[in-house]
Formats: sequence, C-alpha cells, structure tokens
Amino acid sequence: MTTDREQIEFDVLFVGGGPANLAGAIHLMQLAKRENLNLEVALIEKGAEVGSHALSGAVLNPIALKELMSGYREAGCPIEKDVRGETLCFLTETSHYSLPLVPKYMRNKGFHIISLSRFVRWLAAVAEDLGVNVFPGFAGKEVLYGPDDKTVIGIRTGDKGVGKDGKPKSNFEPGVDITAKVTVLGEGAKGALLREMATKLNIFAGKVPQTFETGIKEVIQLPEKNYFGDSAVNNIHTLGYPLGLVTHGGGFIYEMKDNRLALGLLVGLGYQDPMLDLYEEFMRFKRHPFVRHIIAEGRVMEQGARVTGNGGYYTMPRLAVDGAVFVGASASMLNAPALKGIHTSMKSGMLAAEAILEAFSKGSFTQEVLARYHDLFENSWLKKELYVGRNFAQAVSRKGPVKFVHLGVQYLTGGRGLFDRMSIEKDSETLRPLKHGDLEASGKKYGSKDYDDVLFVDKLTGVYLSKTQHREDQPCHLIVHDLDLCVNECFETYQSPCTRFCPGNVYEIELEEKTREKKLKLNPSNCLHCKTCEIKDPYGNITWTCPEGGDGPSYAVL
Ligand code: SF4
Repeated sequence: MTTDREQIEFDVLFVGGGPANLAGAIHLMQLAKRENLNLEVALIEKGAEVGSHALSGAVLNPIALKELMSGYREAGCPIEKDVRGETLCFLTETSHYSLPLVPKYMRNKGFHIISLSRFVRWLAAVAEDLGVNVFPGFAGKEVLYGPDDKTVIGIRTGDKGVGKDGKPKSNFEPGVDITAKVTVLGEGAKGALLREMATKLNIFAGKVPQTFETGIKEVIQLPEKNYFGDSAVNNIHTLGYPLGLVTHGGGFIYEMKDNRLALGLLVGLGYQDPMLDLYEEFMRFKRHPFVRHIIAEGRVMEQGARVTGNGGYYTMPRLAVDGAVFVGASASMLNAPALKGIHTSMKSGMLAAEAILEAFSKGSFTQEVLARYHDLFENSWLKKELYVGRNFAQAVSRKGPVKFVHLGVQYLTGGRGLFDRMSIEKDSETLRPLKHGDLEASGKKYGSKDYDDVLFVDKLTGVYLSKTQHREDQPCHLIVHDLDLCVNECFETYQSPCTRFCPGNVYEIELEEKTREKKLKLNPSNCLHCKTCEIKDPYGNITWTCPEGGDGPSYAVL
C-alpha cells in the first residue's frame, strides 16, 4: 500500500509514556531552560492515555524523583501510602512464617506505595507544563533510518482504520513519520521496536540473554475496617507457596489509600512445568489462608498483567546508537533483588537527557557523542545498584538448594557470588516435555476454581476489569507463524502451554466442527499486552506486534 504520510519533525522524540521517558523528558526541558535552549520535544504513547498501559507493584524509592523535583509532594505527586513497616513471609500450603530478616535491598521503610498508572499520568502533566508535546494513542510501528540505513531518524506510527484483510477502510488514517535528531526508546520490557533494532543494529551482541517475570496484579477495595487498620506493616512480600522453591517468583501485598490494596504474583518465566497456569497460580496465592485473611470481604476493582525484565546489568544493550538511546526497561534498568524498576528507569531517562543536551551543544548525534550517556551511567548510583544485582536472575533461575547458596554468597560479596557473569538459559528454552502424570497432577492442582465474581474472578472477568478494548476489524496483532506446529508438535510435546501462560485467555485449542481436527483459536481483543507469549513460547512461533494506537488495557489505578 503506497501512502502519503504526514511528516513531523522534532528535536527529540521519546517513544513510550513510562517513568523512564517521562523523567527524561522533564529533565531535558529543565536543563534546556537553564541553558536557554529552545528544544521541540515530543512523547508518544500507544495507550489511549498516558498510564493506560502502566502496571507495576509499586513501591517507589524516591531517590530519582527527589533529584528530578525536590518538592514532589507539594507538586501533587500521587502517593498512595508511605511504607511504615514491612515483612517477608514464607508461605507453606496452609501457614505463613515471617522471616526474621528482610534482605537489605528489600527494605522499603519510608518509600512510597504508588499506583504507576496514576504516577505516570501526573508526570505527563508535569512534562506538558514544561512544554513537552505528549501524544497518547500513537503506537510506534516502525523505526525510520537515514540514508546510511543505520542512523535512527525517528519512527513511523501505526496506520488506523485498516480492515482485517489489511486493506484501508473508509475511516483510514495513515500513520505519521515523526523524525527527530534523537529518538529515546523507552517502550518498556520486550518492546516491539527494540526487537527490530536489536536484530538490525545488533545492540545485544555479547550480552547474557534477557530473562523475564510475568506479574498479575489486582487492586482490591476493602471494607472500612480492614487488616491494615491495626497493622504496623503495610508492605508484605511472600515466598514459597504457591510456586514452591523450584519456580522463581513471589507475591506482594501493599496498602493503598481509600481502603484499597494492591496485590500480585510475579512468576519467573524460566519455569519448567509445561502445565503451569500463571493465572491459576495467582488464584492459588489469593486463596492462601494468610492472603485470604488480608483481602477478606474485598472486591476486585481492576486487574492487569505485564512482563518485567529481571536480567539486569549483564543483559543491558549498548545504550546508544547513531540517533537513538535506550532507557528504562528497554535497557534492562531494573534492580531485580530489590524488586524495583521505577526509580532506576527514571534515573536512566535523566542521564540520557543530560547526554542529549550535551549532544545538542556539540551539534552531533552520532553513537560516539550519545555514548556520553553510557559514561554518565557508569559513574552514577544507578550503575552501583544494578551492579550489585548483576548475577541475581541467574542465581534464582538455578533449581534446588544451590540457588540459595548462590544467593547467600552474592549477598556477602556485593553481587559477585561464586562465579561472576553467571550464565542463564533463555525463558523460551526451559520448558520440559510433558510427562506421564502431568495432566492428572494439573487437574488436582487447579481443580478448585471457586470464583465468586467479586473477590475471585476468572480470566475473562479479569480481562473485563482491565478495561481492555481492541477494534475488532483490524489485522490480528498476534502473529502465529506456523499453525500446524501449534496443534501437532507443540500440543503433543507441551500440551499447548500458550493456553496457560497467557493471562488473557487469548489462545484456545478447539476442535473443528466437521473434521474434529484440533485448531488454534485466537481472541486478540482480550490481549493485555503483557508480552508473555512472545517470550515463553518454546518454538519462537509467536510475534507480538502493536495493534492500532489507543487499543489495549485502560488501567486507572494499577
Ligand atoms: Fe499477554 Fe500474549 Fe496473552 Fe496478549 S496474547 S495477554 S501479550 S500472553
């Protein structure tokens, strides 16, 4: 399809409305103002609004926010609660034990419990006040390169109004080419543009493979008289049940304002059991007596899911290429042992902003000039934080007691551990083939589906509570490359794990009415944009692409 596209030019383009890019855009405007430099800056976000797709625990270490805006409370930063006390609990099937020691990197007292969705909305308003052009509802579809085919010159946003058959409809609106001297990629974990650039520009050469966790989270409305009223602890992390000690992951419960709480379960995607059902594990976590007691008489207000990259320092890409830099989760800026990525992402955006300002003073935007961002990173507290967790994901991916030996030695050696730069398997390579007894064991484990549609909701109700919407008549944004592989090899070997790792019930195996042959059915309009399928599919047979801008979840309080 040949299309005339509008071209818009900016000095700097931020792609993605998360904390890294918003902090970066704000800091850049602050610095430019100080230097009397007039910069035209834009930020695009694929959600209908900034914050619609933002989901995280979330406990905010305010270190980067203080640097960005020392009077953030007075400026209206939406803080749910301050952490007044914390506990780390080990759950057995029926009991819980508070561990006597919370590891130092998980100590959160004085930090802020926030809704990431609300927090980034507020940051977007601050950015707009400083003159940033914020465009929600625009999905970056393609990276634009200069005549040398390696200098990034901007991005093309997705077309709107394309029919299922790929042909333009009467309401067709072509995507726009947004060009900039510097493009800042902050799409979040497993971004589609990053994937394209990684292949073309080889930015992950020589790095340890990135690994991920999927988090399913809810905000629950509690009665006025609730657990937190009498508790000195309002920040709870759990280990053990329901995942056990082989599969990496754990739960969290945080108090929010207005008698609400945030609760979620993170599951490391390096798990082995092909029958593991992420959503049902989350339900098992909620049904545990300790958790059930805390959420008693509650009502689920909102639910969502998202992957987060936990690989850390050794999985970071090259931070700059000609015309572009990578920030936040796109650049693996997560402190995995601390379970925190917001302050680290913000700081990465701020350091990128400083390097970009220097590039403007030099009038050059080559990789060599923008690599100043890497130097600033190397000399920052951010590097120190990430460096301590450099072998953490590798250690927790180990099975059995050896995992705790690695973690213990890393704790005592500032992250070095028994072997520095430990190896790790890709998440797509860890599933073991189905074995005798798996189906029966899974039936027993996930048998009691006592949903009440109030506090325990099924997957489809969860999708409803995420307020996910996609225009039905558009090309499917989930590309399954070989459908035969799904119903033959994958079904036989792993019993179609996509039907269990997708928290949105997007993948179903059904029988053709006439032939009774197995067929993969897709429900792309349920997609929560969590990206688990692209990561965990054992054959690399699924590619997640961006649907029409503005589609997807509409998180308000997650
Ligand atoms: Fe997540 Fe993929 Fe399912 Fe969408 S289809 S909800 S990205 S696992």
